[in-house]
Amino acid sequence: MTNQAKQPCLRVIPLGGLHEIGKNTCVFEYGDDIMLVDAGLAFPSDGMHGVNVVMPDTSYLKENQKRIRGMIVTHGHEDHIGGIAHHLKNFNIPVIHGPRLALAMLTGKMEEAGVMDRTILQTVAPRDVVKVGQHFSVEFIRNTHSMADSFSLAITTPVGTVIFTGDFKFDHTPVDGETFDMARLAHYGEQGVLCLFSDSTNSEVPGFCPPERSVFPCLDRHISQAEGRVIITTFASSIHRVAMILELALKNGRKVGLLGRSMLNVIAKARELGYMRAPDDLFVPIKQIRDLPDRETLLLMTGSQGEPLAALSRISRGEHPQVQVKTTDTIIFSASPIPGNTISVVNTIDRLMMLGAKVVYGKGEGIHVSGHGFQEDQKLMLALTKPKYFVPVHGEHRMLVCHSKTAQSMGIPAENILIIDNGDVVELTPDSINKGEPVKAGIELLDASRNGIVDARVLKERQQLADDGVITMLAVISTDGVMAAPPRVNLRGVVTAADPRKLSLWAEREITWVLENRWQQLSRNSGGKAPDVDWMGVQREIEIGLQRRLRRELQVEPLIICLVQPAPGGTPAYKGRADAEPDTRPAPRGGRGGGRDGGRDVQRGERPERVERSQQPRRELAAVGAAPAPAPAAAAAGAPLATPARVEEPEISGRTRRRRSAAAS
Ligand SMILES: [Zn+2]
Ligand SMILES: [Zn+2]
Repeated sequence: MTNQAKQPCLRVIPLGGLHEIGKNTCVFEYGDDIMLVDAGLAFPSDGMHGVNVVMPDTSYLKENQKRIRGMIVTHGHEDHIGGIAHHLKNFNIPVIHGPRLALAMLTGKMEEAGVMDRTILQTVAPRDVVKVGQHFSVEFIRNTHSMADSFSLAITTPVGTVIFTGDFKFDHTPVDGETFDMARLAHYGEQGVLCLFSDSTNSEVPGFCPPERSVFPCLDRHISQAEGRVIITTFASSIHRVAMILELALKNGRKVGLLGRSMLNVIAKARELGYMRAPDDLFVPIKQIRDLPDRETLLLMTGSQGEPLAALSRISRGEHPQVQVKTTDTIIFSASPIPGNTISVVNTIDRLMMLGAKVVYGKGEGIHVSGHGFQEDQKLMLALTKPKYFVPVHGEHRMLVCHSKTAQSMGIPAENILIIDNGDVVELTPDSINKGEPVKAGIELLDASRNGIVDARVLKERQQLADDGVITMLAVISTDGVMAAPPRVNLRGVVTAADPRKLSLWAEREITWVLENRWQQLSRNSGGKAPDVDWMGVQREIEIGLQRRLRRELQVEPLIICLVQPAPGGTPAYKGRADAEPDTRPAPRGGRGGGRDGGRDVQRGERPERVERSQQPRRELAAVGAAPAPAPAAAAAGAPLATPARVEEPEISGRTRRRRSAAAS
């Protein structure tokens, strides 16, 4: 512990949420107490193939879990609560204090993950103060944001009070009437705030953020003018927006059909808890809404981010079982794309327009406002809290820098401001702010199961597959080190001008080289009849050799998977092809051409596609060679080895897999 020799200090360690939007996770630490504030998730960026969810690396919390006294949740957005159910499987959080709506949403996630018994959930009301450990007391200050029931925090510690804004904007006419408790912020400002940690999402945008209510008349205009059905997409978690859309449906005499799991879940929770008021008969099941006149229907659905499996994206591809686009439809995007989703959003819009619908989207329409304050909101926060020190959080690097300039423009000296990264440690005493020794931080990637961790090696392999494809190679090698059949090479997603036969020839050469130069090291005669062979080592050597050659000759780096089919000792050697002259003879089908030469002809004339169909080896099958399987009876009898044992592996292509999960959702 680095801080014990020094003056006792408050350590604040963000493990996520900096230099990015997402996975906000912050550790507060004093003495022996650790308090967590929020634990969110992020969504994968380009290149994270097959990754569903991004979590912060929580090694630091796992190592120090005995000191975790509790957790505070500011509001129910995924980037603040999405990680909690997962973390509860890995370390202990004795109690979680948070707003009613956020905890209701968290309950659903915890039930799904089967971790309901791992912690205690404590609901808080505005101005409630909770004690966490010996050293922290936290007051929940009502704020305004795109999500209902959201809080800023006043955290009182032995070194002073820290204001942690959570996500906020100043909305003086909030949809639910719950105004920002500015008096409370001012109270703390008056008493003296040691440090402010403030939301930087919109620090580049000048002015005040318009109130959420301002979208109401614009949405109303589009809905009332629509001649046919109205289809609206927004974030399910934008409770205020959804509430307004329901209100507008009622006002315009339209029944509402809901599509998308999260839309159904969130609305059910929010109505149950009274955050949304809408009569039961406003809603009509999607199967029955088709019977109503188009002018009396409104479909509210997920898909505002162009997520491939969400309702609107499927509708745009004509893949939705219940809803097809009509030319009289008005489709409204009441959300702006999160950076990184822009391309899929515009593609969805294009597809919908091509189907003939009227699509309303974009900034100029007044149908969306942000839930995060602009520069003037951020100034108001600084003015009310009057902090001595300032740390901009919740934003990408340039947003943090911009926010720090705003703070400086209001008189906070540059030396009192820290711009930090995930894992950095802010050390605060009553009269100092410093960066301590950083802790381990990074990312943990989860696949669709949310259990499988996608590590760097897997990600690199997937990237390689995406960039350059895969080459699989089947080599038949006898236990006494001779190549017993020509290698079978097949390509998937590899673009190359090279003749497939040239690739087979290169493969042969690499095998020959390995057998001549590495066999001694890789096989050991243990006195038994057959020598012990390190088949994995043989595979690896062949893979490395072919990889080098391809890089050199073709400037491509496909993933190379070599499988070795061991043959018994004494199998006659396949002599290989020294000649590289083209052979245009039609190939006999299959490997029953007879003898070695037959095999050779098959190999020569066969197009790689044929080989691919019969063999779909995957990575785990590389183990075939590790424990030499009993040689096939035919091979043992000295029969032709031209057709090595088939490797039957049903293909699960990306598309099939996507369809499956689509069907499951
Ligand atoms: Zn939020
Ligand atoms: Zn957030």
